[in-house]
This record gives sequence, C-alpha cells and structure tokens, in this order.
Amino acid sequence: MFRFRLVLLSVAVTVLLQPTVSSARVPEKKAAPKGAPIRAQAATAAEAKAFVDAAEAKLMELAVEASRAGWVQSTYITDDTEILAAKANERAINAGVEYAKQAVRFDNLKLPPDVARKLLLLKNGLVLAAPSNPKESEEVTRIAASMEGEYGKGKYCPQKDKCLDLQDITRIMAESRDAAQLLDVWRGWHSIAIPMRPEYQRFVELSNKGARELGFADTGAMWRSKYDMPPDDFAREVDRLWEQLKPLYVSLHAYVRWKLREKYGDAVPATGPIPAHLLGNMWAQDWSNVFDLVKPPDVDPGYDLTKILEAKKTDAKGMVRYGEAFFTSLGFAPLPPTFWERSLFVKPRDREVVCHASAWDVDNENDLRIKMCIEPTAEDFSTIHHELGHNFYQRAYNTKPGLFRDSANDGFHEAVGDTIALSITPEYLVKIGLLDTAPDPSKDIALLLRRALDKLAFLPFGLVVDQWRWKVFSGEVTPASYNRAWWDLRTKYQGVAPAIERTEKDFDPGAKYHVAGNTPYTRYFLAAILQFQFHRALSQAAGCTGPLHRCSIYGNKEAGKKLDAMLQLGVSRPWQDAIEAISGKREMDATAMRDYFAPLQKWLDEQNKGKPTGW
Ligand SMILES: [Zn+2]
Repeated sequence: MFRFRLVLLSVAVTVLLQPTVSSARVPEKKAAPKGAPIRAQAATAAEAKAFVDAAEAKLMELAVEASRAGWVQSTYITDDTEILAAKANERAINAGVEYAKQAVRFDNLKLPPDVARKLLLLKNGLVLAAPSNPKESEEVTRIAASMEGEYGKGKYCPQKDKCLDLQDITRIMAESRDAAQLLDVWRGWHSIAIPMRPEYQRFVELSNKGARELGFADTGAMWRSKYDMPPDDFAREVDRLWEQLKPLYVSLHAYVRWKLREKYGDAVPATGPIPAHLLGNMWAQDWSNVFDLVKPPDVDPGYDLTKILEAKKTDAKGMVRYGEAFFTSLGFAPLPPTFWERSLFVKPRDREVVCHASAWDVDNENDLRIKMCIEPTAEDFSTIHHELGHNFYQRAYNTKPGLFRDSANDGFHEAVGDTIALSITPEYLVKIGLLDTAPDPSKDIALLLRRALDKLAFLPFGLVVDQWRWKVFSGEVTPASYNRAWWDLRTKYQGVAPAIERTEKDFDPGAKYHVAGNTPYTRYFLAAILQFQFHRALSQAAGCTGPLHRCSIYGNKEAGKKLDAMLQLGVSRPWQDAIEAISGKREMDATAMRDYFAPLQKWLDEQNKGKPTGW
C-alpha cells in the first residue's frame, strides 16, 4: 500500500469526493441545459496551459498539506488528528473535483502534448463525479460517507453481548476449521450490507449523472477511461488476460476442492463450485490460510526465514537495511537520512498508530518514509521489500512535473513493490548471508503452492468486483438482480458459491470494502499480472536462465537500469511506453505468470489425474 500521490483524486482511501462546483469560474456551465454535455467556449491553448499550471501548483500544495496531516494522524491517532487529516483531505479532493470539471472547457483544442496529458489526467482521475446540482451532490456525498461508515462500523453479534468486528471475523475465517462456525460468521458479516442496498441503488443513479455531465457514458466507463485506450477496449483487454490464466486457475481450483473435500466431506461437492466460506477468507480471494489443509505431508520449503531472523536477533532497522541494500545493489542511491529519522518502524508503547504498512513521500520530493509495526518475521521481511518498492518509485519520478508523479497506471505501483518481493528467493537469502545453502529444487512446490494460493487464487475475484459494478453502472444489471448477478459472476469466474440461500433482500457485494467504499478494484487484478511480467523481464535482463521462481535480480545493475527507466517515467507517458521501457513489449502479458507457475501446473496435473476439474 502507499499513500498520497500528488493527484489525490485517485487515492484509494479517500473516496468522499465532495464536489464544490464553482460555476463562477465556468460561466458556460450555467448556460448549459440540464443534463447536456458541457461545451467549451472559445478557450485558447495559452489559457489551457495557464489553467494546468495553476491546477498543478495548487494540487501539489494541498497534497503535501494532506500528507503531513495524514502522517500525524496515522502515527498518533486522536480525535483531533483524525479531524485535521480529514479536513486537509477534503480540501485536496474538493480542489481536484473542481479542476476536473473545469478541464472539460479545453476539450477539442490543439495543445502541446504535455498540457493535453495533464488535462486528461485531471479529468480521468475522478472516482466519483458528483452531479452539479448542489442538492444531488450533497446527497451522493452523504450516501458515500454513510455506506463507508456502515462498513467500518459493521459488526456481527452472535449473542446479545458478544459482537465480532471484521478483524475478529477475519481471524476466525483464517484459523477455524469448524465448518458450522465458518458459515455462521460468513452469514453474520454479509448481513451488515443489507441496509446499504437502497443507498447503493441511489448512489448509482447520482454518480452516473455526474459522470455523464463530464461526458462519460456512466461511472464504470469513467473508471475504464484512465487506461490510455478506449473504455471498451480496456474491458476486452482484461478478459484477454484472464483467459491466459484460466486453465492454471482451474487446475488449482480442482486440487483445492479435492483436498477440502477430504477435510469437510460432502459439504464440498466433488464437481461443483467450492462453498465460499471454506477457503480461509471472507471473499475467497486469498486461499493461503488453507495451505496447511491442502499441502501434501512431504511438501515443505526447506527453511524457515522467521526462525533465522529471530536467531540472528535482527531488529526492525536491521530488517529495513536489508531492503535498502536490495535497491542499492541494483544501482539506486541510498535512502535519504530523513527516511531513517522520520519513518515509524516499531509499534510505539504509548499511543495508538495505524499499523497497516504503508510507504509515503510526504513532500512529493524526497521526504520518503515507511510506516510499519515491524516484527522479525518472513512476512514482514517481504513487506519491507514491497514498501520500499513504492518509495524508490516515488523518488524515481520526482523530477517530473507534479501531475506526472504517479505510477504509469494504477496497477503499476503495487506491482513494483511485489516484483521486488518476488526476488526474495533462497539464492538471494544465501547471498545476503541469511541462509547457508539454498534448498534443492524438490522443495519448490511448497513455495509455489503457497504463492499460488495467494496470487493465482486472487485473480478471478480481482476481476469480478468491477465486472459486477461495470454492469450495474451501465444498467445491464438492475437493482432487481443485484445479488443474483453478483453470485452468477462469482460462480462463473471464481467457481465458488454461497452455501446458504441468498435472495434479493441481501446485498452481498456491499460486504466487500471496495464496494461500500466506492474504490475501483481492477487495479489489483492488473498488479497481480504485471508483477510477474516485470519479474520475467528483469530476470532476463539479469541473465537468469533458470526457472523464474528461482530468479532474483539482487545485485544486477542491468536489471536495475531497466527498472529505473520505467519508474522514472511516472505517469508522464501512456502506460504502454512504461511497460515497453521495462519489457520491450507494449502489452500487458499474463504468460509470465504462467511461466512462473509452470512447475506447479505440472505438479497439479499429476495430482488431479482421474479427478474432476471445472464446475
Ligand atoms: Zn503496496
């Protein structure tokens, strides 16, 4: 995760886009008939440049202010710091919405490429476009806040005086092996979304209205418009990527279904979809919690990094030093001294902080920091490499103009962090002295299976959330079939199904944060695919000829150069240019993920022999 790009419009955590349409500054809007697209008056290229420059400077200033307030809030939680951070955030978002609406004025002008791209980024960065009618804009903002609030406060109370919040329920979903208990908390959590149903319906109407005022067909089309290609082409592109990986997913699904059937008996059908509550996660989007149920007894990774770190008494700073050394080994400059002075590495004893790991560039220049409650575990070791990936990306594009300081598309930032984490191989651990010798390849299946339960199992869910929303926003799915459409898609793509009856009284999509909180989701699907494409490209640059899952780019300057070439572009060019800089190709390509898991595919095929696949 990372926080506070300059263009705050696209920050995932800030979903409340309070509109403040300044009609005084866009007089033609007043004249436009209701619902009609806003047409530009005779604006000039010089005005466009002046507008973009002013917007860039103001958004930069507001972003830094929001970032400072956000840092204090996350590292010192009090009622006051929360209010101050929310206020600063709101100011930045309001400005962004206003600029987006004003930018339409310069449509169809012939402009220098930089100015044109900045205008495009201003317009396409919105997640929610509120209608210009003040009553409606107030209503849609209120609904958005209400749904997010209901989600945040959501609790399931199995007994009168005993309530479970999402954190409690998440732990039960991960650890419990009692099918009845799992189903109970699954049902309980999904009930929190029922009151959101009428709100969501109204939210769709109003947000679509706002999107149409900006010239988009609907809110879904607005979301798909930020990928440097026509919205419909992007939808097809996503389908194409999924088709490349579907066979691998079907193999994993068949294997896991069989293993869960051994554990839970007839509750798991031999041939149909897997019951959605038995995969160790509320949304069945990450199956790594059932690793111990599905792994064969003879499969283990051959070493335990957590034990090694404990034995070496590696402290939090020491863990981060390993991460930094990875990047300097690629040729990147060391982190600035302020990183070490200002970051939060350990959980303070005297105050509340947000422990969820995140990477920051507070002044959008060189004030890099991470915020994390580090423990000496293998998981945190990997997370540090991931978070520093964000920091080095942020620093690489800091020479670009403010509006270009962001990742090439919204899948790239997370993908870069994960790419680096993919290089944490046994061979890397040997090189940095944490492991004496790398285990032989017979141990690889454990590594690959665990990784597939996380990254491969996620893919169809990463698709479904926005497939559903795109259809809802376009009107293809109407409120009368919200829930059925949700489960049709989940069954079709994920091969999971609810174990109990669901009806149109339920609103199961709302039991996922990103629906209740109106945050686009396809970025996570893209990040999952891109990281393997980046990893393969960099491994090739590093001359690694072995299996991809054993390639680490540690210490390789050639790979570092390629990575840096992509990072430096920021979002100044279409993402196709960025992906070309790293991989030589202008397309996203899921075959790298297939290559990475090729040994696992072979192994799964052997395990699945004579057993049913598909659902
Ligand atoms: Zn991240």
